[in-house]
Amino acid sequence: MNLSAEAALFSILRLRMVEAQLRERGIKDERVLSAMSRVPRHEFTLQGYRNQAYEDHPLPIGEGQTISQPYIVALMLEALTLASSDKVLEVGTGSGYVTALLAELVAQVVSLERHAVLADEARELLARLGYANAKVIKGDGGEGFPAAAPYDVIIVSAAAAEVPRALLAQLAEAGRMIIPVGPADSQQLQLIQMRNGQPQTTLRETCRFVPLLPGVGLTS
Ligand code: SAH
Repeated sequence: MNLSAEAALFSILRLRMVEAQLRERGIKDERVLSAMSRVPRHEFTLQGYRNQAYEDHPLPIGEGQTISQPYIVALMLEALTLASSDKVLEVGTGSGYVTALLAELVAQVVSLERHAVLADEARELLARLGYANAKVIKGDGGEGFPAAAPYDVIIVSAAAAEVPRALLAQLAEAGRMIIPVGPADSQQLQLIQMRNGQPQTTLRETCRFVPLLPGVGLTS
């Protein structure tokens, strides 16, 4: 298949994903649906998994990590009620897929990834795709990134035993954070809203993410 035929096929599969996996299951945020119909998810998978990029499950991205199921991504982004002026901190860049979606939806994205190889690959891919408002930094997400704090939104794509204090401290007033909390085999998404300096937690769906690993220190 030549490149433009492949791109056309992927774009059909992507629209089908948005309708069947997202809209039909209750995702309503038109900005989220529209971003997910634009971002080329097949660019973020390993070469051998490109043809599964729009299927209804997570996929391996190397280094023992995974790119989340599209529905979980949509659900998290919708819960965060993103505004186009928001500054967002992402923990767990992985492939950079969610980073790209965020870059489409908000003003500024800072994304932390502890794995140097994944951080480098995601940074290169996001640059190639033209996402100039996303910055990928190799570092420990559990510490956040105080230099650019506070954040209107924090999204954590790895499972934490408890909500890291450093992240709460970097959440702006009226800010929103979503994070999977619990043991390795099953977690619950927590939506945390900062009101009058107090975090208010709403329990959401159960889920299963790879673990948020202990830090290795900020290097670049
Ligand atoms: N949203 C990503 C999914 C990433 S999977 C995507 O769309 O591809 C979770 C990622 O969190 C992995 O890449 C893993 O290396 C990273 N991670 C785990 N612990 C971390 C930590 N303490 N700090 C930063 N990243 C971490």
